[in-house]
Amino acid sequence: GPALLFVKTSQGKEEGRRFYACSACRDRKDCNFFQWEDEKVSETRLAAREEYNRNHQPSFTHRQNVDRYKNFVLLPLSKRRFCQECQQLLLPAEWEEHLDHQFLCDITITQLKSPSQLLYPLENKKTNAQYLFADRSCRFLLNLLVDLGFRRVLSVGTPRLHEMIQSRASQEEEFSVRSLLLDIDFRYSQFYTEDEFCHYNMFNHHFFGGEAARETCRKFLYEENGERVIMVTDPPFGGLVEALASSFKKLMAMWKETEKEGHDNKEMPMFWIFPYFFESRILDFFPSFSMMDYQVDYDNHALYKHGKTGRRQSPVRIFTNLPPNVIVLPEEEGYRFCTVCQRYVSSGNQHCEICNSCTSKDGRRWKHCVLCKKCVKPSWFHCTNCNCCTLQKHSCEKTDVGCFVCGKAGHKRSACPSLSRT
Ligand code: SAH
Ligand code: ZN
Ligand code: ZN
Ligand code: ZN
Ligand code: ZN
Repeated sequence: GPALLFVKTSQGKEEGRRFYACSACRDRKDCNFFQWEDEKVSETRLAAREEYNRNHQPSFTHRQNVDRYKNFVLLPLSKRRFCQECQQLLLPAEWEEHLDHQFLCDITITQLKSPSQLLYPLENKKTNAQYLFADRSCRFLLNLLVDLGFRRVLSVGTPRLHEMIQSRASQEEEFSVRSLLLDIDFRYSQFYTEDEFCHYNMFNHHFFGGEAARETCRKFLYEENGERVIMVTDPPFGGLVEALASSFKKLMAMWKETEKEGHDNKEMPMFWIFPYFFESRILDFFPSFSMMDYQVDYDNHALYKHGKTGRRQSPVRIFTNLPPNVIVLPEEEGYRFCTVCQRYVSSGNQHCEICNSCTSKDGRRWKHCVLCKKCVKPSWFHCTNCNCCTLQKHSCEKTDVGCFVCGKAGHKRSACPSLSRT
């Protein structure tokens, strides 16, 4: 889909040169598309590019994959193979081409119903960054959505949540929740029909399936028979918040347009799952959102998963435009309700009388600094040189690279003043 327009700035210079680069791949190694904004592209280069794109299409279309799946489930168990190297379900006629590849045999219906277990997670940090929810977190999310009365879930980059919804819907008669998965990982088209999965890029709101796919999404968002919709998204954490927000606003607009009388001034309900240090960036784009204390855990993320010995803190949170007091967090995991803040908070999150709020962002107990007039991390101290609270170990006013969040020099992302504007 469309490239994004970036700007290259060099230190000291005000104006930078603008260029187009791939929206989905933040690493040149994954996609080397680059073009200056004012560059003239020759016919030959254009032709070469088109040729390259033609040669890099998936081997089957979504439609073909749906047909293949139908044939695959008709096969006896002994003939159901999955090539691990090509990440593809194999029909017997294709076995020959994959003989020297690793493959799995006897693929059961259960396996077909949990593709996120069958496929290996695409972990390359800069592009897919596929980190799958731990079962506990996924279950929590789904139960929360059901308790809140939602009957449709637009799963944007949440294949495991989609899968849990699908499999419960096929197993339990009374379970009436439906899900539509939007994801850039085309491998999922092998397991879901065009009504269940759209190949989608959330950095530029591009539907690879064209108008038909767009229409599928639009139909899904139309709240027939009062079936309420919520969007749940868990984007790669390296992704540009600006680009994501722009796409999510377009999905929200799509929802709004489905209702003839309009949804008044309401917004499509949304859960945006993202690390807590992006709070101020997200609130810049979505002022109606607030951050929940719930810590989202992952299966294949070394840092963000439950260790065997007690809990490792995960920095990943739920941002939502639903009123915080309706988001009930599990008391058995130590969350409690703060009556003053009217929301559930982590057990370690103490209500600060001076700030008049439960101020901890990371679950640990924070301390109030009278000089900074706010609560800060327990490990910080007030540096009179820098005139703010920061890590004990720091070099005053000296940081070579600019801050990742605000771009200013003098501090790193973790100490960015714009992140703690509460
Ligand atoms: N925790 C989620 C997975 C989140 S990982 C779960 O368990 O369901 C991020 C997801 O976003 C992956 O599924 C990945 O394929 C998808 N993704 C990455 N880049 C994307 C893009 N540009 N557009 C749409 N989806 C993308
Ligand atoms: Zn409180
Ligand atoms: Zn305080
Ligand atoms: Zn201070
Ligand atoms: Zn200092």
